[in-house]
This record gives sequence, C-alpha cells and structure tokens, in this order.
Amino acid sequence: MMIPFRSPAEQGIFPFELLEYGRSVEGIPLRYLPAEKETQLLIFATIHGEESETTFLLSRALRMLSSPPPHVACILCANPDGMLRGTRANSRGVDLNRNFPTANWKKEKTLSRLVLEAPRITELSTGEFAESESETQALVQLIQKLHVKKAVALHAPFGLIDSDSKTELACEMERVFSLPWQAGVGYPTPGSFGTFARENQIDCVTVELPREASEILITQYAEKFADFLRRF
Ligand SMILES: [Zn+2]
Repeated sequence: MMIPFRSPAEQGIFPFELLEYGRSVEGIPLRYLPAEKETQLLIFATIHGEESETTFLLSRALRMLSSPPPHVACILCANPDGMLRGTRANSRGVDLNRNFPTANWKKEKTLSRLVLEAPRITELSTGEFAESESETQALVQLIQKLHVKKAVALHAPFGLIDSDSKTELACEMERVFSLPWQAGVGYPTPGSFGTFARENQIDCVTVELPREASEILITQYAEKFADFLRRF
C-alpha cells in the first residue's frame, strides 16, 4: 500500500525517530532515519556543511510522508559541525567528501570554490589519513551495517545528476529532479564518496541541486522527491 501524504497542517514537525550512528568531531550525535522495512537505498544530505539546502529539501520531502520510506534510509545532515559553522569542511577544516578510504586518497590539500564563478583555489584538508574524521568513519560503518548497495549523495549547486554510468537509479534521479546527467564533475575527486562507492560496488548517484534558494528547491522538488521516497 502506498504511504499517504500528510496534510500541510501536519508537516511542521519531523515525526520520525532518528537513530544515532556516531558522533561528529565536536560530539554532536550523527543520526539517520532507518527504512521502515529493509534498506535498499541510503540518501544523505549536507556532507558539505554549506549545502544545507539539501537538508531542508530532504526533511521537507520526508515530512510529507505519514510513515518513513519502506526501503530508503536517510541522513539529514552528515556534517553537522560544518553546517553549524556554515563551512564546506568539518570543524577541523577537513572536506569529508575527500576523506573516504579509497585507493587514490591523498594527503594533499583539496581545492574548492568559494562560489560557482570563483576559481578553484580555496584550500581544505583531506584529513591526516583516510577516514581520519569521525563523521567519515561513522558513515562508512553505517553503510557496512546496513549493507548499502545503492546510495544518493545530495549536493549543490551544479544542477546535474552525476554517476559513473547511467544506471536505473541515475535515470530515476534525472526524472525526479529534471536535471541533466553527466559522468563526473570534470575534475578528479580522490577520497570522495563516489570513489569509495565505486571501489565497494555501491551504485552511487550524486544529485547536485541547482543554484536556487531553499524555498524554490522545495517548491520545485519536495513533492516529487517524497513520491520517489515512498515508491522506491
Ligand atoms: Zn558538495
């Protein structure tokens, strides 16, 4: 039976119990929403702390549902320390999406942009060693515990769907978000979640939301995303 939508009057609060899967560097509980039945997909938002629109959108979509998605586990915020500081990195200046244990992980600084038009010259750490950060460790452990085989990483603001190949999940994300698909963001990302997923046979799709205010993203996508979450 399809999960019904809640009425708008009921959508104000986050109604589902979140389980702790670890702690951030600053000791903030990292929490996830378990799938109601069995996990077939993990979705996570805000691994980059300044991409909080991904948290707002995921929260709003989940709050439209009258029970948790049957087969999708969700992390509303994978980098709470970064989000509270408004930074891409965590509280130690580590870009968590370059800290995953991958064959190509490098201790060299990673470069990012301050805004979309800016050159990629802003330096962040990739960590002391691969998986040095508690947020990365906790996410890797959760993936192992839930036997995750499919994952969606929510990011912004490139406005595209990125995956190694055009899988069924990538096509589904293309339909939900009406964004173009492409293979890769155009530069190497050693230690990224995408690379970690590839090395661990996880079908990973990165959804880069377009450069829009949260309320516009919610207006455009929340209902379609909620419908995907209840159907998957
Ligand atoms: Zn990002």
